Order: sequence, then structure tokens, then C-alpha cells
Amino acid sequence: MEILVVEDEPPLAEQVCRSLSLAGHTVQKAADGPSGLQWVLSARFDLVVLDVNLPGFDGFELLARIRAGRFPVRVLMLTARSEVGDRVAGLKGGADDYLTKPFAMEELLARVAVLGRRTNTVEATSVLQVGDLCMDTDKRRVNRGAEKIELSPREFEILQILMREPGRAFSRDEICERIWEREHEYDTRTVEIFIMRLRKKLDRAHEESIIRTIRSVGYMMPPSQ
Ligand code: CA
Repeated sequence: MEILVVEDEPPLAEQVCRSLSLAGHTVQKAADGPSGLQWVLSARFDLVVLDVNLPGFDGFELLARIRAGRFPVRVLMLTARSEVGDRVAGLKGGADDYLTKPFAMEELLARVAVLGRRTNTVEATSVLQVGDLCMDTDKRRVNRGAEKIELSPREFEILQILMREPGRAFSRDEICERIWEREHEYDTRTVEIFIMRLRKKLDRAHEESIIRTIRSVGYMMPPSQ
């Protein structure tokens, strides 16, 4: 499986990653909430092993964002022995399983193996919906109501970023960094041009744009009701 380990304690993170790699998994590591989210947004994982207490924002917040974005990924939470409330909160928040610290690596590998077989726990949906705007990320199709909308690859990527987290405002810089991650030269005005083009295509039959401008922040999709 492709596994992302989000854990801020270096020795434990090392140990977990090593055990998972030895068991044949491909492992990626993140040490805080924001970089964990960055990985989830930029690559496809089968499983996230997620610690609760993390710098930046914690495991619950990251779990909430993963579920809000409807990423088809399973989540195994690592909770502290004393915090019964953490386990309940984790499972209510959409975690597939939890493991209390400290745990034996055999136990972790056993849980991971079970989660690997349990493929139907997460709805592997690739369809994002905001109002009457619908995006199928697998088929790379976008519809607004009954109207099919043709987008360029870049337009598609930018729209996908916004639609994954409706209700959250993205700055032009953040959009740039996500799209042009490995290209050093970019200009935030480029984002404005793409948003303009997206609006032209998406809002043809509408007075108000579905992409909201949040003054002195950036752009946002309306939160779902
Ligand atoms: Ca921690």
C-alpha cells in the first residue's frame, strides 16, 4: 500500500516507517498537520497513519479536512492510552481504526493489513460537488447543472483545489504553490487570469460567480449547506 505517516516524534516516526517499508509498503513521512495535508492533496495514498497531537494543526483537524475533501483514503489514528475521548472523537470523525500508544510494531502491521483488505469502508468517490457544480476527478469531467464545461488542465487543477475544500479561502500564493510546486518562477497574477477564465466558463448562465472573491485573502467555493 501507499502509506502516509504523520507523526512528530522522530524516533517513533522512524520506527513506524521502517516497519511499514520492511512489510513491503511505500511510505511517506510528514511531521506536522499542514505538511500532512499537503501530501494528501498532492499524492494518492491508500492509508494515513495519523498521530493526534501534532504541530501546526492536530490529527483531528487533518482527519476532518481529509473527510471534507472526500479523499478515498483510510485513516488509522494513533491515540494516547489515557485519552479515551480521543478514540471516540477519532472514530466519530471518520477514522477507520485506532491504535493506542505505546504499541508493538506487530500490532501496527496487523491493523494495517486488515485495513488493506477492508476496501469498501471508504467510499472511493472521485466526484466533488459544490452547489450545481460537479467535478469527476477520475474522468476529468466538469458539469454545471446539465451543461458540460471544457477546462484546460491548469483550470481543472485550480478548480479542484477550491472544490476539495469548500468554505475555505485560498490565497493566490497558496494556489500558486500548489500548482507550480516545482517551478520556481510564477506570478500570482497568473492565478487571477485563470480564475477569470474559469468564471467565464462556469458562470455563463449565472449573475453571481460560484467562485467567491474574499477581499484581501483570495478565492473560495461556497461552503455546502
Ligand atoms: Ca505527537
